[in-house]
Amino acid sequence: MKLRNKDKLYIYYRDNKSCFYCGKSLKFKQITLDHFIPLSKGGTSDIFNVVTCCKKCNKLKADKMPGNYEDTILNLFLKTVDDDMIIGKGINISNKELKEELLKVDRLEDLSDQFIFQNSTMRFYIKDNYVIKIVYLGGYENEYNSDFSWED
Ligand SMILES: [Zn+2]
Repeated sequence: MKLRNKDKLYIYYRDNKSCFYCGKSLKFKQITLDHFIPLSKGGTSDIFNVVTCCKKCNKLKADKMPGNYEDTILNLFLKTVDDDMIIGKGINISNKELKEELLKVDRLEDLSDQFIFQNSTMRFYIKDNYVIKIVYLGGYENEYNSDFSWED
């Protein structure tokens, strides 16, 4: 997937016009873009996995896996969802409802050739900035397992 110019611009503003790693302030023409989780480690070009980077940090980072990447990629994902940059494609849920569910995502479930995020009831499969599949988890059952007593 090739990043469109408007995606590059979005990433630049999302990252406060600064290098994601060292915080150095950058002009748009100075930036390089870095795959936060490297392509060689299963990362993709979804916009939440691409960050603004100065040339120096990009060279230093190369294709190393960042430490504590789960929290960081989760934060980037949630920010991108909040900015309406991730929507559904070919799935039977409105974008409004989807956004509400995506904002409840609390972990990266898997990463192989695509990102899979999860909240307590749903699992989301992401490809090219779209949610292309949702799997409902067993939340329904859990509701019926909670303790209660009849009041008669
Ligand atoms: Zn830097």
